[in-house]
Amino acid sequence: MRITIAGGGIGGLATALSLHTAGFEDVVVHEAAEEIRPLGVGINLLPHAVRELTELGLAGRLAAIGVATAELAYFNRYGQAIWSEPRGLAAGYRWPQYSVHRGALQMMLLDAVRERLGPRAVRTGTRVEGLRHDSDLLVGADGIHSAVRAALFPDEGAPPWNGLVLWRGTTCAEPFLTGRSMIMAGDGTQKFVAYPIGDGRLVNWIAERPLDGEPPERGNWNRSADLAAVVEHFADWTFDWLDVPGLVTAAEAAYEYPMVDREPLPFWAKDDVVLLGDAAHAMYPVGSNGASQAIIDARVLAHSLATTGGAAAYEALRRPATAALQLANRRQGPEIVMRLAHERAPEGFDDIDQVVPLEERTEIAASYKRTAGFDPALLNERPSWSVR
Ligand SMILES: Cc1cc2nc3c(=O)[nH]c(=O)nc-3n(C[C@H](O)[C@H](O)[C@H](O)COP(=O)(O)OP(=O)(O)OC[C@H]3O[C@@H](n4cnc5c(N)ncnc54)[C@H](O)[C@@H]3O)c2cc1C
Repeated sequence: MRITIAGGGIGGLATALSLHTAGFEDVVVHEAAEEIRPLGVGINLLPHAVRELTELGLAGRLAAIGVATAELAYFNRYGQAIWSEPRGLAAGYRWPQYSVHRGALQMMLLDAVRERLGPRAVRTGTRVEGLRHDSDLLVGADGIHSAVRAALFPDEGAPPWNGLVLWRGTTCAEPFLTGRSMIMAGDGTQKFVAYPIGDGRLVNWIAERPLDGEPPERGNWNRSADLAAVVEHFADWTFDWLDVPGLVTAAEAAYEYPMVDREPLPFWAKDDVVLLGDAAHAMYPVGSNGASQAIIDARVLAHSLATTGGAAAYEALRRPATAALQLANRRQGPEIVMRLAHERAPEGFDDIDQVVPLEERTEIAASYKRTAGFDPALLNERPSWSVR
């Protein structure tokens, strides 16, 4: 079977590797960019995605570029702890969770594709136009502005914006909390996220708040932002364990991204075309799932094609699963605990148990893991998507 993949992002490259591992030799990735460069800032790879990369034989390379996240903790805007939970191996998973630079992950996958499928397997500077291809299957892994998706759904238009803006940056800084903690602090209106990436001395941060007026450019990840404008909104977010304005001020650069997603689709596959990753199910960056879900798509698609000859099994499993997650992320996913704490105790609290009881916080965290497919027991026991 000859397979064309539109898009050399994390989803497209993971698909090439998954197909090759499942026995497909004739696979070509077409990437619109003239050159694949390590763009982006930090992303998290959850244990269900790390499992898939491990089963693709990439565990060592991943460990070399990622920080194994040990803890996820939520705080209010005064830095008071609302919830914390161990992550990765510390939470009983058989696979770690990694915080990683998106660009480093993409380059790692690109190297693996070229080594395994040959230097011509990824062709840059080639934009796939609509549904045109000369193979047996076209996989549309061309991101939130997918041309393949637009050809299947010509009336859809631009991704909807929810009025929030994300500013993202990286800063060289001292480790905080465990040194491998991912933290979020919020007051129901605005939010700050930070976690170490790279060698652990680089802190990736995301500041989020409502923006008046129209968003600058929907879906451009690399638009520069004004650091002074970011700091202004977080000026008094100085905690005894993290100096938010200091972290933002010391950043070399920041990027601005409007909070956009896509509606769940009625179908992903038609004739000899199928969608994958952000092209299929772009979701708000809540709960650290975008790249992880694209990697899982890749493995399930390869399994579906190798075992059934078609993509129907892939779509039957992945479309409802990711639609539920898109909607859960619109409801703020596990981050809802920060909103609840703020609504019930806007000036802060002495005892979080009196504000958001432990059972409520526990269920919020657990139900999101079930929706996103990384409940520890279920993930540890689920059969592999490897076909040989
Ligand atoms: C430049 C960039 C920076 C990002 N930075 C971050 C970040 O800092 N944090 C974060 O959480 N997420 C980031 N993301 C998003 C994250 O990588 C994705 O949500 C996730 O990995 C899903 O990947 P994907 O492969 O489905 O889509 P994408 O990562 O969007 O990849 C799609 C690829 O397809 C290519 N393409 C587009 N149209 C065509 C076409 N017609 N023909 C051929 N190729 C085409 C694009 O150039 C891109 O390389 C970024 C995405 C991009 C493109």
